[in-house]
Amino acid sequence: MPKFDIAVVGGGAAGCMAAIQASHQDKRVVLLERNPEIGRKILLTGNGRCNLTNNSPLPIFIEKFGRRGSFFRSALGSFSNTDLMEFFQKAGLEVKEETGGRIFPQTDRSQSVLDVLRARLKELKVKVIYNYRVEDLRKLDGYFHLSGKKGRWEYQPHEPGDDDIGEKTTINHLILASRVILCTGGASYPKTGSSGDGYHLAQNFGHQITPLKPGLVPLKIKESWARSLQGVVLKGVGLTFRHGKRGKIKGEGDILFTHFGVSGPTLLDLSQEVVKVLDKEGEIMLYLDLMPQINRDQLEEVLLNDFKKYGKRELQNYLRFHLPQGFIKAFLELVDTDPHQNLNQIDRNGRIKILDNIKGLEMTVNGHLPLSKAMVTCGGVSRNEIYPETMESRLVPGMYLAGEIIDGCAPSGGYNLQQAFSTGFLAGRSASAE
Ligand SMILES: Cc1cc2nc3c(=O)[nH]c(=O)nc-3n(C[C@H](O)[C@H](O)[C@H](O)COP(=O)(O)OP(=O)(O)OC[C@H]3O[C@@H](n4cnc5c(N)ncnc54)[C@H](O)[C@@H]3O)c2cc1C
Repeated sequence: MPKFDIAVVGGGAAGCMAAIQASHQDKRVVLLERNPEIGRKILLTGNGRCNLTNNSPLPIFIEKFGRRGSFFRSALGSFSNTDLMEFFQKAGLEVKEETGGRIFPQTDRSQSVLDVLRARLKELKVKVIYNYRVEDLRKLDGYFHLSGKKGRWEYQPHEPGDDDIGEKTTINHLILASRVILCTGGASYPKTGSSGDGYHLAQNFGHQITPLKPGLVPLKIKESWARSLQGVVLKGVGLTFRHGKRGKIKGEGDILFTHFGVSGPTLLDLSQEVVKVLDKEGEIMLYLDLMPQINRDQLEEVLLNDFKKYGKRELQNYLRFHLPQGFIKAFLELVDTDPHQNLNQIDRNGRIKILDNIKGLEMTVNGHLPLSKAMVTCGGVSRNEIYPETMESRLVPGMYLAGEIIDGCAPSGGYNLQQAFSTGFLAGRSASAE
């Protein structure tokens, strides 16, 4: 029966970093991955370009993780964004900064990030067992006993012909380890392998799992006109979600119409807050400001002048100055105005209707896509039950947790991957300490 010092469950960002860090201390480390390869989710990140971290200072990272974001302070301090960039640069992968401090590999390919992790695992001779889905975890006589379905566990070389990192044998169905690091990710995009297994494994040891909610998730729109605009992008619009008497969630950016509703980076970032309201209230109103660069009074004046100056122009042609072509037909239906009408034929009421809809186009958000379609899982193993200085479970000595399995999520920008790398690093270092 193979015995290891440390078993890392899950070969994503957190698990790879945990295994790399743990093996620095000359420990026998095994990395168990249910897929035939590691890092499937990494390949999808940043639209295949991997936004691996952000250039923001530590306080911003903490703020991005919302209430109790300070839980991640030690992890982010032990292995910061600059440490992560150095890690990749030392391995020959240069990085670059884009808008909003987002950091990408120079290659613009997630694959190169994964290649570095794979190469480090290989250099450090970490034994990686593929197709091994941990289904049961117990602690008996001081050892963690990990087991899955017999017959599917096989050590596979990293590359064809590569047999220098461990024996190519079928592994005994039971694996023993003195310490275990759970890095099984969240429950979003389950096809990547992260389908929530780790929550059950942790729960069996008495851990609380906070409600799993989708983060960075597209929203559904009730009105059919919005759904008919599939593929249309409105650039640089203001977004205001309003609920209750005074509730407001605001942002500004591009919005993409889809066959079910709306998506786009800003909207995805706001979705975490919106989902909370939707779960309570069922619906929330969304108002788009199509021209946020000028206020309502200024736009009223612009329209008044233009309607005089270009009186002979058809409304549908005039709107092309302000709105994307693909959006105009739907907009004209909303303001209930003949597209062929000349500007000088439109009365004050018609003009005010146009103004109202440019400054506050109303839509009803009546749902969100499921967790499986969200980019991150908000919720997970309660942070109250993990020591933030080590990532060790407060309930189970010798068990560590890292990455998205832990409750808490951030908006887009590289913060979630940095969390996974930092907590993985800290868990790996702590688990391998004497
Ligand atoms: C489409 C998409 C794009 C994203 N883009 C970005 C981005 O650009 N920047 C950013 O910061 N974040 C991004 N994220 C979020 C980011 O990818 C995750 O937060 C991060 O990958 C979490 O890392 P992890 O190691 O905790 O989990 P994962 O990467 O999910 O890894 C978990 C691993 O555990 C394995 N596993 C699960 N259960 C078992 C088991 N029982 N036995 C063995 N192995 C198991 C899985 O197969 C998987 O390989 C994106 C997410 C998605 C879905």
